[in-house]
Amino acid sequence: MTRTHLLERPAMKQSASTLEALRKSLDRALKSGAYRDKLGLERSVEISDLDDFRHLPFLTKDDLRRHNPFGLCCADEQEIVRIHSTSGTTGEPVVIPYTARDVETFTTLMARALSMAGMTDGDRAMVTPGYGLWTAGIGFQAGVERIGACAIPTGPVAMEMQMTFLRKMSPSYLIGTASMALLLGETLRREGLTPRLKGAILGAEQWGERRRAVIEELLGVKTFDIYGMTETYGPGIAIECACQEGLHYWDDLFYFEVIDPATGEVLPEGETGELVITTLVKEGLPLIRYRTRDLASILPGRCRCGSPYPRISRVLGRSDDMITYRGVNLFPSAVEKLIAEIPGLGSEFRIVLTTEGGKDCLDIDVERSGDGGDEPARELARKMKMTLSALPRVKLLPPGGLGRETKKTRRVFDNRTK
Ligand SMILES: [Zn+2]
Repeated sequence: MTRTHLLERPAMKQSASTLEALRKSLDRALKSGAYRDKLGLERSVEISDLDDFRHLPFLTKDDLRRHNPFGLCCADEQEIVRIHSTSGTTGEPVVIPYTARDVETFTTLMARALSMAGMTDGDRAMVTPGYGLWTAGIGFQAGVERIGACAIPTGPVAMEMQMTFLRKMSPSYLIGTASMALLLGETLRREGLTPRLKGAILGAEQWGERRRAVIEELLGVKTFDIYGMTETYGPGIAIECACQEGLHYWDDLFYFEVIDPATGEVLPEGETGELVITTLVKEGLPLIRYRTRDLASILPGRCRCGSPYPRISRVLGRSDDMITYRGVNLFPSAVEKLIAEIPGLGSEFRIVLTTEGGKDCLDIDVERSGDGGDEPARELARKMKMTLSALPRVKLLPPGGLGRETKKTRRVFDNRTK
């Protein structure tokens, strides 16, 4: 399959055909009694326009958990060919059933995402995410193979092994988390090696522009932020193109809405809120208005790359990542953005909340980008006071001083007495 062919978009834009696609997905969902109860709906024709659709109740992770494993499954048992599971970082893991068509759709959308990042059949991609119950490893591998490129399925093995394959196999693409890319980049730099990578496709955690700049410099590559979750097949439902101005998503497979997380009201294009996803062709466990908890906006206008696929902004954080500190709401991504503006600071930081003498305290430990005095620390405290109304104690650490993760990097440590 050629790259142009993979990136072609099936015609589907008018609201009439969007409505038709949503109704089809609703019909699928209504096969499950639990879904019918949840939606308060018997037949999809009861939804006469998009406004009706916007009044349907949201589906939440708690709903999935409550009906785990197969309460919301909309396929016959024999139709299920595979299951995956969420990681269970925010509670009991949720099992997601896949039909053969779901597996095929996942492969197609992943191949499309990788093509968007410039991968062709001449490439070799090192796939470092986990295999097994998790969707990422097998999903990326299937996409790489569908393009006709070569997959090197290292999975999350020890760094030494990753380095061996980087050296011996000269992959042109690295696929993994931003934390993994950072660690690999720093290790390569220490060993004085220059990788021959073209691109790094990074996801599964929120990573800001400073971290991007550090990774791109260390690895000498362009990075592509990729988005998705187990509930939506897996990663690959949105990805950056070479313009790095938002992530293209596949509107022939998904219907995206952005809502005000407090009121549930649908927000207009350009406004940041919680991303709500409806799958259009998913069979095993279709999602109808699924609250992702991820904060982003739908970007207006067409991308400079010319792709007809619409875009969302990068994910700014999760609505449940919000820290409330002395009555002020604070997102780690906002802190990250301030750090990126201050010369002398690196990309890595940690927010620590404690209780001292009955009062909340906020400490920020941040790595320097090189040598220097304490001015960057004072600057960060000043900026946080000014823009976020929170005055932290800032401690500067040497580069690498916070240690490194290969999976997701934890930014917030809330040790307050509850
Ligand atoms: Zn683009």
